[in-house]
Amino acid sequence: MRDVGPRDGLQVEKPLSVADRARLVHALVAAGLRHIEVGSFVSPRAMPAMAGAADLFEALGRIDGVTLVALVPNDRGAIDAVAAGADELSATLSASEGYSRRNVRMSIAESLVALEAIGETARTADTPLDAVISCCFGSPYEGEIAPDEVARLVTAARERGADRVTLADTTGMATPRRIDEVLDAVGTDVGLHLHETRGTALLCAYAGLQRGVTRFDASVGGLGGSPFAEGAAGNLATEDLVSVLDDLGVDTGIDLGMLLHASALLRDLVGHQLPSALSTAGPRIPATNGPGGLR
Ligand code: ZN
Repeated sequence: MRDVGPRDGLQVEKPLSVADRARLVHALVAAGLRHIEVGSFVSPRAMPAMAGAADLFEALGRIDGVTLVALVPNDRGAIDAVAAGADELSATLSASEGYSRRNVRMSIAESLVALEAIGETARTADTPLDAVISCCFGSPYEGEIAPDEVARLVTAARERGADRVTLADTTGMATPRRIDEVLDAVGTDVGLHLHETRGTALLCAYAGLQRGVTRFDASVGGLGGSPFAEGAAGNLATEDLVSVLDDLGVDTGIDLGMLLHASALLRDLVGHQLPSALSTAGPRIPATNGPGGLR
């Protein structure tokens, strides 16, 4: 499980202080998250909520056993993220030409060139790089994206230095059928980054799990979505997925009660209700004592 809440979730909210963002990360670590995307090295003018990413990494320092990830839009961002002490870099490209041009103002081919430069920096710094490919399961601009085209991009990303690849459903168009078709083309050694836009994220995570996928992005509270994709709000909520995985007997190492505490902290920080079902309904079977109890 990689929690992307401090980045993907908070980037669309009104800016929080570095100290409050660090509190959220620490709450996630306390809940057992070992892989957290904490910030983005983008221009603070483009994304005010992500300002101070270097300060945030400095405030957090290295946390034993925890991988703190920085999203980087280009080589400049990668150099800054490495200097700030990021444990892992994450870079995005898109399977949709239309989304790519609107989101990052680059063609797919241009973003592969940018990825190659990021890959070089990551390799030099001995820092793992994850390439996140957006719109793998459909695009509001081109409709269905051919699974073979997604497979071609997965290969291209690996050739340019990506140690891992994550398939993202940026605009919430994934269905279990699409998950099957895309995994048939790319294999299951990928991460899945799913959105609840059309209520299919948990369904698609389950479909991926059944196929043997073992890496999932999720966002505490279900916060987030792309500021560039109309109606793309609602990442898969970490607590909603953990609840189902617990029930299936999948050991995530995450304490659901503590995770709900992190979710409640996030709700207080952003000042509004969160989309996650569990943050409203509470755990299916409340713990009788300890922090996992029904609040
Ligand atoms: Zn997302």
